[in-house]
Amino acid sequence: MEYPITQDAGLEARDDRLVTDSARTDRPTPDVDVVVVGAGIAGLYLAYRLSRAGHRLRVFEAGDDLGGTWYWNRYPGARVDVPSIDYMYSFDPNWQRDWQWSEKYATQPEILRYLNHIADKHDLRRHITFSTRVRQAGWDDGASLWRVRTDGGDDVSARFVVMATGCLSMPKQAEVDGLESFTGEVYFTSRWPHDPVDFTRKRVAVIGTGSSGVQSIPVIAEEAREVVVFQRTPTFSIPARNGQVSPERLALFAANEADYRSAARMSPGGIPMERSITPTFSVSEAERQQRYERAWGIGELFEAINVYADVLSNPAANHEFAEFFRNKIRAIVDDPQTASDLCPTDYPVATKRPCLDTNYYATYNLPHVRLVNVRKHPIRQITETGIDTAHEAFTFDAIVFATGFDAVTGAITAVDITGRDDAALKDKWADGPQTYLGLTTAGFPNLFLITGPGSPSVLSNMAVSIEQHVDWVLDCLGHLRAHGFAAIEPTAMAEAGWTQHVNDCADITLFPAANSWYMGANVPGKPRVFLPYPAGVDFYRATCDEVVARDYLGFKLSGPEGSMCNDGLVRRLQPDVEMILIQMAAMNLPTLDSMPVDEARAFYAQMSTTRPPGPDVGEIVDGVLPGATGDLAYRLYRPPTPGPHAIVVFFHGGGWVVGDAVSDDPLCRDLCVRSDAIVISADYRHAPEHRFPAAVDDAMAAVRWVADNAEALGGMPGRLAVCGWSAGGNLAAVVSRLTRDAGGPHIVGQVLLTPPTDGDLTRASYVENADGYGLTTALAQWCYDHYIDPADRRDPRFAPLCAGDLSGLPPAIVVTAEFDPLRDEGKAYAAALDAASVPVEHVRARGHTHQSLTMVDVALSGAPVRARIANALRGFFLPTRTPETAA
Ligand SMILES: Cc1cc2nc3c(=O)[nH]c(=O)nc-3n(C[C@H](O)[C@H](O)[C@H](O)COP(=O)(O)OP(=O)(O)OC[C@H]3O[C@@H](n4cnc5c(N)ncnc54)[C@H](O)[C@@H]3O)c2cc1C
Repeated sequence: MEYPITQDAGLEARDDRLVTDSARTDRPTPDVDVVVVGAGIAGLYLAYRLSRAGHRLRVFEAGDDLGGTWYWNRYPGARVDVPSIDYMYSFDPNWQRDWQWSEKYATQPEILRYLNHIADKHDLRRHITFSTRVRQAGWDDGASLWRVRTDGGDDVSARFVVMATGCLSMPKQAEVDGLESFTGEVYFTSRWPHDPVDFTRKRVAVIGTGSSGVQSIPVIAEEAREVVVFQRTPTFSIPARNGQVSPERLALFAANEADYRSAARMSPGGIPMERSITPTFSVSEAERQQRYERAWGIGELFEAINVYADVLSNPAANHEFAEFFRNKIRAIVDDPQTASDLCPTDYPVATKRPCLDTNYYATYNLPHVRLVNVRKHPIRQITETGIDTAHEAFTFDAIVFATGFDAVTGAITAVDITGRDDAALKDKWADGPQTYLGLTTAGFPNLFLITGPGSPSVLSNMAVSIEQHVDWVLDCLGHLRAHGFAAIEPTAMAEAGWTQHVNDCADITLFPAANSWYMGANVPGKPRVFLPYPAGVDFYRATCDEVVARDYLGFKLSGPEGSMCNDGLVRRLQPDVEMILIQMAAMNLPTLDSMPVDEARAFYAQMSTTRPPGPDVGEIVDGVLPGATGDLAYRLYRPPTPGPHAIVVFFHGGGWVVGDAVSDDPLCRDLCVRSDAIVISADYRHAPEHRFPAAVDDAMAAVRWVADNAEALGGMPGRLAVCGWSAGGNLAAVVSRLTRDAGGPHIVGQVLLTPPTDGDLTRASYVENADGYGLTTALAQWCYDHYIDPADRRDPRFAPLCAGDLSGLPPAIVVTAEFDPLRDEGKAYAAALDAASVPVEHVRARGHTHQSLTMVDVALSGAPVRARIANALRGFFLPTRTPETAA
């Protein structure tokens, strides 16, 4: 069917974005509308939806029959690792009439039977050409269609191509010499024979202890005379506790299946489950152990990973959970050396998909089962009769390879796909895949990827993720058809933004710390890039829906009548910052500027009590110092290392109105530990009781007192820096200049974290970021008005940017946040310092807000920025910067 090209009302309404296209209207009609590659769960659902929507389609499947993963992986013990009842289609609401699952975790034959049942029930086979591999797909720009070639000689043109080729369908090559010389039987779990394999009385080697190995080893061991398992990387595995489908879950279905499925769609992993928000160390050790035991006992993968909110982000939390697993392994496995070899120690738990097993660890207690740790005893080669390691020659009747897949991208790049200008997808992805939403890739119009890189895919219950992708694609095709467009393609900007966002999400987790197939690390030469989208099925779905709701944001839609491009980035905030903002918005808290000052101060203090404390320091001392007109509180943070130390005088944030010496406690601890310097957080008098320049006078007094008492405080005289956040950043900048003019005390460096530097509310950042990012423009104005008269706002003691001469100021690091009303004045001050030849490092914190960089252990994405601050401080304190050597 050629899409009707009509200039409809919707298109006219977007006239401002309509670019007239000289495209021909006599485009050739393609053979079909859609070619689908692959007939697994995704391909079958595509066949169902596409055929019912009236699209002409062809599905090509390399296998001789349907089922994908469940067609190929017939090894003994193969099962799902999410409950069967969750790992099924949801489009078939009356499924219980003609299907029922026999077990909590169905076996491969049962799942394959289910998929065949669905295909037959909905008459899907007629769309599929089996035993046919798609070799090539090339975009013909002139004709605006794909030309698809198969190894069966098919040459088919199609408007769209959908790669439903599977994340785990391209087996990894065996990385061992001599396989061809072995005279016994050789099996690959991913290409298991259709006829039963009998291991009775046989000596069997199993190479690999990932999911397939963990599932197959106990079953093979039940038959074989001898089993030797060759393990490179041990796996974390929990008992599946398989059995009947849970009656509780069946009851949930009976109550309301639609609600159940909808909860799965909006869950973190594609199974109805609340996202844990409890940090590990916020509860007692006894409670934690109980929680871990429950996870171990329940036999559900996603439950286990979800024990605490920070298991995948906090190394200490992860270590404790991993140690729980290791203790279980040590308790089950009798031989201490085997137990030790089975304990994973070189990657955080859950950074590789943990396995669900039945008797895996206990199998190593059987007298005929043995583990060989190939890290200690590498396989040298496969011989005619078995396997040689450096220390031993083994004889086998059969070798089973359970060595995994070239995951997520392997099956896609195995097809010679060329897009616009004959650019090859393989080349484009040479340094790692780039996609928009994991669904599309720039330069390859009308190409869709089901569970492609950059989507939740292998981190989720894939049945749910597949349906979501297929539904999105179908909606998209419907939209194109309804609006007279023939092609859709993401923009380079949207794609780069998404790729960045996926990396940002991964970077705040421990995932990159593992040499996993999620990272492409199992395939020699594959770029090390985190492949799936780790923020969750729920956030991902919301993003895809938002893209559509915002007029296909980030896509270019084109057709003979014209084109439309609503370019932009769907996610610009750091993922954790965005999550915090969402949570804050949901709490619907009153704003500080809506309260009387006393209430605002109490509220601000109250909010500080719920945050994580920040790292331990060596010592904390509370004291008072003489301010300009009376005593002021200070808190000293001493590093755990032996002193004396350099000193940082820190001024807290709070708009000169709220806050005190301890209100930035986690930040000060973090600064202290990272920079190995004493941090003295000095209070100052607040407005409106004490208006400008009271805070400046107090800040100066504090710096003088610290300089005079450096030795007594445990500091090194002459190694004194100032630092401040927000209003405190303003004070640090002001003090740096005033001490220069007063001839001392000597300040070796200034750290200005999101500082106001002239309070000019007309700057663009006050408009762009006026609301929605924590600090609002209205609140900034409230602070200015409490602190200083409009007539004084060009006084350099308020507006360091207005100081005539900035030369000779201490070297500085200025941090500005992208979504901060104050961003542009921080930027302007960094530029002014640079223009005055002051050494300055300007850090633009991408995706951050005014407050987020101070949220230690909450906004983890702020940690690299704080590391740069600490690094700058260490640089300021180098002996070459101190007065004695500077002179
Ligand atoms: C052993 C194993 C167990 C798993 N267990 C789970 C689980 O418990 N839970 C879960 O969520 N996920 C699991 N997965 C992931 C599983 O792959 C997905 O859940 C799901 O089956 C993927 O379906 P799919 O249709 O996207 O891809 P697949 O099932 O992989 O199907 C893709 C099909 O495309 C075909 N193909 C590829 N390239 C071409 C080409 N060029 N031309 C023609 N045909 C081609 C392949 O032959 C294959 O049949 C498991 C994977 C494996 C390997």
